[in-house]
Amino acid sequence: MTCVTTSTWSGERLRLARPHTYEEARGTAMRTWTVGDFKISEIHELPAELGLFDGLIPEAPREVVQTIDWMSPDYANEAGQILADLHCYVVDTGDQKILVDAGCGNGKSYPTQPVWSNLDTAFLERLSEAGYERDDIDLILLTHVHLDHVGWCAVQDETGAWVPTFPNARLVVVDAEWQRHLDLMLPDGGDAIAESATGADDGEVDVIARAFYADAETFSNQAKLVQKESLQPVVDAGLLELVPSGAEVAPGVRYESTPGHTSAHHSVRLESGGEQAFITGDFIHHPMQIARPEWSSAGDFDPEMSGRTRRAFFEASAGTDLLVLGTHFTGSGAGYIVEDGDNYRLVQERPA
Ligand SMILES: [Zn+2]
Repeated sequence: MTCVTTSTWSGERLRLARPHTYEEARGTAMRTWTVGDFKISEIHELPAELGLFDGLIPEAPREVVQTIDWMSPDYANEAGQILADLHCYVVDTGDQKILVDAGCGNGKSYPTQPVWSNLDTAFLERLSEAGYERDDIDLILLTHVHLDHVGWCAVQDETGAWVPTFPNARLVVVDAEWQRHLDLMLPDGGDAIAESATGADDGEVDVIARAFYADAETFSNQAKLVQKESLQPVVDAGLLELVPSGAEVAPGVRYESTPGHTSAHHSVRLESGGEQAFITGDFIHHPMQIARPEWSSAGDFDPEMSGRTRRAFFEASAGTDLLVLGTHFTGSGAGYIVEDGDNYRLVQERPA
């Protein structure tokens, strides 16, 4: 794991800190969408390494992925391996600039996901290429508090201290999802972080991937690191704002409950000028779950709930002009839901 690959982005070669076994498929253009008066920019962080998500969906080993005709080449390779991507979105409403999810971040400690530890990506440079500087961001929204969705909430300053990346941005999170994260942290002698955890001994611990990771203590330790390195600096700066499920956090920008991946996962619905878009977060981890809504991710807290959430969402959105932006999607990265037999498909053509 010593090689370093390069990728192209807007004509420049950018150095990535981790090797990648597939070339970035879509590294040459900054992708943007408009929804009414809103402009949405995708800020790429890094592609997930090929193989990292093998087995993410237990029902879909490679030979099964190969049977879904629209997965390759956009969302899986010819061998049936899942392709995935890490990116965030800036929603520019004209009045406010809103970062939706915050990626892995640089220099973080992720013992449960070592491949994303100590990253050194050019995320902030890409944000700048999209036209946004750190001071410009007004709000950060989190679909859920998993380590690959919160990292850019804080960066290290020249002394090594963790400080808010976006000094003017309020971090606006659904209260139940924030509490779920706090509940992961087991008391361990009364340090400041552990004291903020509640309900940790009630026996039900919501983890990223029960199938992948060991035990509550491992998750507690990881949650404490996430808190220390990414979230507590924002809390200490007085920038955290907790809101109820369904809250409209800015005109036309609303948290919508999509539970299952975590117990209080929320997606972001955008409405402007009679048009709508939906930023998924991880309630759809991969487009295969559009083709088979009941196939849940090994990372889902409640796989059955996750499947029900997806099917209900597809039933409501199929055939409409709702633009669905997939937080981990490769390929086109976004599209429209249409019916496909008893299931669904993501297409590029906007339904009439
Ligand atoms: Zn997640």
